[in-house]
Amino acid sequence: MTQATIFSLSSGQPPAGVAVIRISGSLTSNVLAAVAGSLPPARLASLRTIRKRNGEVLDQGLVLYFPAPNSFTGEDCAELQVHGSRAVVNAISETLRELGLRQAEAGEFARRAFEHGRLDLVEVEGLSDLVSAETEMQRKLALQTGMGALSAQYLGWAERLTYARAMIEAELDFADEEDAPESAADLIGTDLAVLMKEMSAASNSARSAEIIRNGFKVAIIGAPNAGKSSLLNAMAKREVAIVTDIAGTTRDVLTVELDMEGYLVRLYDTAGIRDADDVVEREGIKRAKDAARSADMILYLRDARSGLDVYEGFDVPYLNVETKADLYPNNTSDAVRISSVTGQGLDQIHQAIVDLARESWNVGSLAGKDRHQEHIALASKFIQDALDEPRLELKADALRAAGDELGRITGRVDVEDLLDVIFSKFCIGK
Ligand code: GDP
Repeated sequence: MTQATIFSLSSGQPPAGVAVIRISGSLTSNVLAAVAGSLPPARLASLRTIRKRNGEVLDQGLVLYFPAPNSFTGEDCAELQVHGSRAVVNAISETLRELGLRQAEAGEFARRAFEHGRLDLVEVEGLSDLVSAETEMQRKLALQTGMGALSAQYLGWAERLTYARAMIEAELDFADEEDAPESAADLIGTDLAVLMKEMSAASNSARSAEIIRNGFKVAIIGAPNAGKSSLLNAMAKREVAIVTDIAGTTRDVLTVELDMEGYLVRLYDTAGIRDADDVVEREGIKRAKDAARSADMILYLRDARSGLDVYEGFDVPYLNVETKADLYPNNTSDAVRISSVTGQGLDQIHQAIVDLARESWNVGSLAGKDRHQEHIALASKFIQDALDEPRLELKADALRAAGDELGRITGRVDVEDLLDVIFSKFCIGK
């Protein structure tokens, strides 16, 4: 069954200088001939007059034709680059509908690219991250995921599993042949152990990647009036505040998202921690402690004058900060001394946060997503089963299961030709 030919405004909402309308599906060439006079040459920008079906001129713009299979979706595709007004886009959309096209659903182009094998699931995820990336690090991470590097890693792992399984199957099939290896199962054991190590390193990297995607969480903790809100405001004014999420009550946890040297940092202002009788305040303090426990870093603020000490170990890296340095210029302290009024010490806070964020992004290997981790964990478990299993048939079964888990990550559980592998990797000689 052939799929509908779809179109969509792929650039931002009008008005804009240029609007890009993308088309994909079997009607593409007919539609191009109809609106642009004739089918333009493949993959070359052609300046054309765009017309309605009755010949009325709609606009003039660049028309690009990408015949299948060398297109984003793998189908015949086209782009109309026209003037970016609402009226032009509406009029062209109307004409495309009259020609039998329908508006694409969200993600439908990428979905078709996946269905036609142009992108695997990992690349689709990277693409979606790239489109929504706000910080430099998010962009880099998305490119790593979306441009095939991560897929190649998973594919490489799957190939090693296939090879290991091929060796075992060969030992099973040709056990009485002289030129089959002595004990393939022993030989592959070493590589499988290495493979499991690589998988576990990848899981650690995934944790770092989550920090890049969801932000490095910094909780500001301290007694009431220590200067927590003042610090949050001072930081937000200095850095680019991406989103400010003001919660319902002053007792709740406030968040500001900042772009610090390409890292998304979420700064949390929490309720002052002290012994409280008031129910609402106690709830606020509980939330402050929860925020501290789940943070990647704590800024522990103390008013130089009061010296009130409320820090309790949260098992999270923390920085001691003494506030209101402008009031007590002669104080000495091991803590980082800041003033939200004069800006003193804010650079040090900035640097400390960025340093720790950078350290936590210390990834040796490519970093996957949570979804990948589940499959990697299962694959690892199956490999361990294979290593522990003395019976060759069951060993091979466990390796197959491990490979299938990896195939689920990219969405391509390969129908591999086991015999090809057997015959190409070592000489059976017959
Ligand atoms: P929080 O309860 O910990 O959030 O503390 P606030 O940020 O609300 O500050 C408590 C009081 O200290 C306010 O009156 C602030 O104006 C004042 N304050 C905070 N930071 C500074 C500072 O760096 N210098 C001076 N002079 N006053 C400060």
